[in-house]
Amino acid sequence: MKTIIKNGTVITAGDSILQDILIEGGVIKALGKNFPEYGCNIIDAKGKYIMPGGIDAHTHLDMPFGGTVSSDDFFTGHKAAAFGGTTCHIDFALQSKGETLKKGVQDWKARAKDKAAVDYSFHIAVTDPTQETIDEIPSLKDEGVTSLKVFLAYKGVFQVDDTAFMSTMNKAAESGMLTMVHAENGDAIAVKTKELLNAGKTDMKYHSVAHSEAIEAEAINRAVSFVEITGAPLYIVHIASGNGIEAVRKGRRKGLPVMGETCVQYLFITDEALDQEGFEGAKYICSPPPKKEEDKKAIWEGLTDNTLQTIATDHCPFWFDGTKEGRTPGKELGKASWDKVPNGVPGIEDRFPMTWHGAVNSGKITPNKFVELISTNPAKIFGMYPKKGTIAVGSDADIVVFDPNKKHTISAETHHMNVDYNLYEGTTVTGWPEKVLVRGKLLVDGEKWLGEAGFGEFVFRNTHNDII
Ligand SMILES: [Zn+2]
Repeated sequence: MKTIIKNGTVITAGDSILQDILIEGGVIKALGKNFPEYGCNIIDAKGKYIMPGGIDAHTHLDMPFGGTVSSDDFFTGHKAAAFGGTTCHIDFALQSKGETLKKGVQDWKARAKDKAAVDYSFHIAVTDPTQETIDEIPSLKDEGVTSLKVFLAYKGVFQVDDTAFMSTMNKAAESGMLTMVHAENGDAIAVKTKELLNAGKTDMKYHSVAHSEAIEAEAINRAVSFVEITGAPLYIVHIASGNGIEAVRKGRRKGLPVMGETCVQYLFITDEALDQEGFEGAKYICSPPPKKEEDKKAIWEGLTDNTLQTIATDHCPFWFDGTKEGRTPGKELGKASWDKVPNGVPGIEDRFPMTWHGAVNSGKITPNKFVELISTNPAKIFGMYPKKGTIAVGSDADIVVFDPNKKHTISAETHHMNVDYNLYEGTTVTGWPEKVLVRGKLLVDGEKWLGEAGFGEFVFRNTHNDII
């Protein structure tokens, strides 16, 4: 079956052109005008923007953490992603201690396979960096996995030392793969946490003190230095600190292959959200936590001057009240103290419309720059371009028909994420994904869900990682 999307303005990272799209066999067959319509599905997109589907390069669906599991699995998370204009994401498979990286990847593939409704891929988190693990890195290409993550935080759980960090970077670079890093200083967090708890400081706001701006910036500075030392490319995930961004900027000015990601929550939320009466602040506990107004400003600057290349979510939702029937334990695990609150926030559905609203409607960035940050850059950096991340002949027909005038009020009552709160509750955005297609199949039509579990495919990624 062929589909024609006509009369819309096609927006890519490079251009905005009024043209029609002919889709056949799940891919874009042609771009142009006056395609013969006989026997085709017709989507009339007059007055609408046609953009490549969003790609969220940082999510944690169905992830075990702190004695529970994130509340969206690969079906609910995918349905929510699609409603929010995201058609592909890269989640994190975890290596278990004593197991191979390959085993981690295969476990996560099994979690996703029958549930997936949009397309997905995996990074692998290196948590047990023995010599065997390091030697195994190049073979992950056979699994379609070309990016690895190490943690400089979560001491005693995921944290690796500088030797392991450096060995991973070197080995990955040798095989054309990309290392990613969670840059917060885990030792400093552990010391601060102990001090705070010993002083009886258990309110939610102390999470921000234990994960301070300086603790994040120290690790980012160190990570950038490691790029200089090794020459290996590095992608720093979820940057929230102004001094961290400055370190990345300095590194890039020296020509170092270092790239930076921020997340949608850091564009809108500050540490004041954690400093509220009662337990409310737990909703905003994630690592790193959102920082001060000046850090928020630095992030916006980092996006406009190309210090940061992508906007992801770090989507890792936990119920605010996980005690209700049918729910997994959630934020309430930390009622007594901030350090027991599962770390993570929801956002996979909100990223595309919130960023458009905050960045494009305000005139901070152009629609083309928006597409670059939300879709094209993640596809290029992680070896999926031009299959994903653009609207071009031969690309997968992953398409958002976006109504730039539609107003929508974001609420947990109406969102599709499997979680009982929304970080942007009550925010009215202008511009909303009206129709969403994955490989030519219409999954979202207004309020209607037409997708199904098992339709989503694993994206086997190339080793060619563009340094952007
Ligand atoms: Zn994460």
